[in-house]
This record gives sequence, structure tokens and C-alpha cells, in this order.
Amino acid sequence: AGTLYVVATPIGNLEDISARALRVLSEVALIAAEDTRHSSRLLQHFGITTPLAACHEHNERGEGGRFIRRLLAGEDVALISDAGTPLISDPGYHLVRYSRAAGIRVVPLPGACALIAALCAAGLPSDRFIFEGFLPAKQAARLARLEHLRAEPRTLIFYEAPHRILAALGDLESVFGSDRPAVLGRELTKTFETLKDLPLGALRAWVESDANQQRGECVLVVGGWQAPNEDEAVDVDARRILDLLLAELP
Ligand code: SAM
Repeated sequence: AGTLYVVATPIGNLEDISARALRVLSEVALIAAEDTRHSSRLLQHFGITTPLAACHEHNERGEGGRFIRRLLAGEDVALISDAGTPLISDPGYHLVRYSRAAGIRVVPLPGACALIAALCAAGLPSDRFIFEGFLPAKQAARLARLEHLRAEPRTLIFYEAPHRILAALGDLESVFGSDRPAVLGRELTKTFETLKDLPLGALRAWVESDANQQRGECVLVVGGWQAPNEDEAVDVDARRILDLLLAELP
């Protein structure tokens, strides 16, 4: 059988494509793309002439059958999405799952991914984090989701559409409080790349006051919940015990 390559493409800056991605995209028999028109521009830019076929969320299962037939016949297929890493808030899950179930080798070609780009430049704890993808579009569901996450201690990462960024920030502020540290990563790797770190309340006000910040693609990185003054409380206890012990010393 052939190999399914899961290939990351840039999230803006075309220089972020890897040498390996370019080689694999030109060597495979077929590229399964989220949007063939969008991807044909990318391939054209790099002089790659490999045929493209559509593989998007609503036809992935059917198309998955077709891709899997080609893979089982011995052809190599590359899966790409419109931007960044396939399967990360993008199609590809079913194709990868069916491929693995059919015994087809699946090879990842890592590269650009907006959540990792935002996290690695945000300056918020990155040792443990959770990726929440897109919050629900409707406010009631969004608030309910955020309630579940209110006491999450790990750094939280959200994707958001530009027309909902302000609403999302408002709800984050109301559930997590105005003081929670946050970073808005906008247009990452592109000309107007912005990484703004402010507490949620101030970040919401900043975005509200500048319409330019409500455009383009964005990632929100939010600091995890911290037990209020937990460290101080421990310190107070430790000091009290230390004082007691010191008083007992000769
Ligand atoms: N698969 C992509 C990845 O690896 O990051 C994500 C695809 S998802 C459909 C699109 C969302 O990713 C956007 O709404 C935005 O939240 C985020 N995103 C993609 N490119 C971005 C960029 N250049 N700057 C900031 N956020 C970006």
C-alpha cells in the first residue's frame, strides 16, 4: 500500500513551508486538499503540479473511500488543509482514521500551527496547556463552555473568528475575571502580526477601541486559573511554624 502523508502548510508566511513538505507534495500521486482552489495557488507558487482532489469535512468519509482505494492500490497521497496542520480545527480526522484502520502507513510532516505559534511567543506557562479550538458561536453555549474551564489551571488556547473576537473576550472576561492574564495573537507570521498581552479586561477594552484589532485571524492564549494567594497562604503557614520552632530553640 501507499503512504498517507499529513503535511503542514504555512499559516501566512510562505517561507514557513518545509523543504520536506515541498519534496513530498511534488512526489505523491495525489494531494487531498480542503479547498482545491485555495491549495492550487499555494502549489502554483512553489511550481508543484501534483493533481489535487477535494477532501473536506462533509465529503471526507465518501472521499476517504476514494483516497483509501488509491492508497491501497499503492499510490502515495498527501493531505493538506488551507493553512497550518491538517486535523487541527481542520478536516482530515476521518481520512487518517480510515487509513490507519486499513493498515495504511500514516506519516506526519510537522510544520506551522497557529496554536503553537501563539503559545511559544505568548510568555504564558507553556509546560502544560489545553487547546479548546473554537468556542461555540452562540453566547449561551459559549458561557457554559467557559464555566467548565473557569478553574482549569493549565494555559488555555482558543481559536476565534475575527467577527466574534470581541464577544468572546467579553465572555472570557465575565467568566474568568478582568485580571486573568491573556495574549491575543493576530495575523501570526503575516505583515500585521500582533501579539498583545494584557489582562482580559484591558485586552477586551483595547480590542474594542481599535477596529483593526477585530480583523484578521486570531488565537487567544489565556493564563490558567491560580488558587488565590495559595503561595502566600503556604508562606504564612511556613513562617508561623518557623517562628514556633525558632522560639523553642535554645
Ligand atoms: N489548521 C490550522 C492550524 O494548524 O493552526 C487552523 C485552522 S482553523 C480553520 C483557522 C483558525 O486558526 C483561525 O480562525 C485562527 O483562529 C487560527 N489561525 C490560523 N492562521 C492564523 C494566523 N496566521 N494568525 C492567527 N491565527 C491563525
